[in-house]
Amino acid sequence: MKRDSDCEGRMPKRTAKSARRAGRRSGEFLGTRDPALLEATLVHLRALVGFDTRNPPRAIGTGGIFDYLRAQLPGFHVRVTDHGAGAVSLFAVRGKPKLLFNVHLDTVPDSPQWSASPFELRVTTDRAIGLGACDIKGAAAGLLAVANASSGDMALLFTSDEEGADPRCVRTFLDAFLPLPSGEGRGEGTRGAEHFRNAEPSPQRCALGATHRLSRGERGFQAVIVAEPTRCRAVLAHRGIQSVRVRFEGRAGHASGEQKPSDNALHQAVRWSTAALDFAESQSKESFGGLHGLRFNIGRIEGGIKANMIAPEAELRFGIRPLPSMDMDGLLERFRTLVEPAPAAFEETFRGSPLPADAARAELHRRDAHGLAEGLGIPVGDAVDFWTEAALFSQAGYTTFVYGPGDIAQAHGADEWVELAQLHRYTASVLRIVGGGLHER
Ligand SMILES: [Zn+2]
Repeated sequence: MKRDSDCEGRMPKRTAKSARRAGRRSGEFLGTRDPALLEATLVHLRALVGFDTRNPPRAIGTGGIFDYLRAQLPGFHVRVTDHGAGAVSLFAVRGKPKLLFNVHLDTVPDSPQWSASPFELRVTTDRAIGLGACDIKGAAAGLLAVANASSGDMALLFTSDEEGADPRCVRTFLDAFLPLPSGEGRGEGTRGAEHFRNAEPSPQRCALGATHRLSRGERGFQAVIVAEPTRCRAVLAHRGIQSVRVRFEGRAGHASGEQKPSDNALHQAVRWSTAALDFAESQSKESFGGLHGLRFNIGRIEGGIKANMIAPEAELRFGIRPLPSMDMDGLLERFRTLVEPAPAAFEETFRGSPLPADAARAELHRRDAHGLAEGLGIPVGDAVDFWTEAALFSQAGYTTFVYGPGDIAQAHGADEWVELAQLHRYTASVLRIVGGGLHER
């Protein structure tokens, strides 16, 4: 089922225009059930699904889907940045919004179980089916529809590298845009300007790229809403992720001899594993925002040679998913020192912060996000088990939550779909936020 990126650009101009027209019409029906808004969203969704943005292989350039987005954002200052390796971001600003909407455009690869082309949107009476429709091009389409249905201040960050390894877009964005306002002077300096000077020109290029010093309104935002499928609920918390490689060293010898605890690397690994399972179990009473306990998983143990030889070495891979209130460094140290002798090597290979980040003030940040969601009229939902890039924004000091149409149960599966009612609810809520001047809150 090979598909090349030549499906990029298949959106006919006529369709793009009709999306803008439908979107404008919808502005007349703020807050009500609005078929025009959904119609505009579906036109955009059909176009976005038509672009191959599978990740891997992440063969995504600055044209294609990004050309489409640029064409749909008249009146916005638009900046497209190529971060290499298929990581491309589009940052679009209109006015001086305090709120940033972030959404990723890449999808997971399709599978042979798809019953039709994953790149051709199918719309039934209640669903839109297509690769990425649920995760999370539906939200991207809704944001485009709102951008055209309203003239309110609005900021959008589209990225192409959320699925899969080596995410670059959000990290680079956060290098340039620190949160506002967290004390006078925060976010000042020229890093943001440098970032934009290095960026590629775009058709709507504006003063953002030309100025050496960004104005306050352009330097950062007060809060970020990250789109992922949450059934149109604000998700304020999720776990972090830590992956660790542990190496045990022993001393090869004949298995008939008496052994010290340190002689056999596999015995060390098993002893450590038992202690680690007990420790993880001891955390079961810990909780945060509806999440309970520490998730712990030994994913792989390998080593040794044969039954009558003392194992000289062993390697173990494990993962933990801490609560936002858990100290990630402290946890690592606890696991490292569970038994004597300590492992010969203990290396964290991946870390993703929980949402909210900053264990010491996690509850405070959760309450800030709760207040933000309430202020925007978005219902608050339960914490989720999946990781999101909202954690990166939180780590950088932003008040943030995850909010988007569709159910994670439909993400990443064959014939992935999003409910039309969800699409509509999401888009209408964003239109209410952008059109209602809540950027001034
Ligand atoms: Zn996603």
